[in-house]
Amino acid sequence: MEIYSYKCGKCGHVHYPYRMVCKNCGENEHNEFDPVPLPRKGKLLTYTHLYNLPADFEMAKLGLGIVELENGITITGQLKIETPRIGMAVAGRVEVVRSGEYDEHHGMVFYEA
Ligand SMILES: [Zn+2]
Repeated sequence: MEIYSYKCGKCGHVHYPYRMVCKNCGENEHNEFDPVPLPRKGKLLTYTHLYNLPADFEMAKLGLGIVELENGITITGQLKIETPRIGMAVAGRVEVVRSGEYDEHHGMVFYEA
């Protein structure tokens, strides 16, 4: 299981999530984007904890982090780190982050690297 970013076929700028038009060169309206799996290593930029979650999250609190990945993309993901520190190295795994009756949502979950 991978989560993909999208590389502009014209200038090489990598986007996540998917965009119709390249935000670097403004071209590529004909969707020439190559899917590239997101790197798993990154640096924690900031984090927070959420409480009072909806019932389909089977946990009392949820750590959320914003991580800058190796290729410069920033991504929000769950944080499974007891005492997070800004700037620490983290490693992501693709996991089911929420499961409903009919579907499962995959997302990046970050652990201490
Ligand atoms: Zn471009």
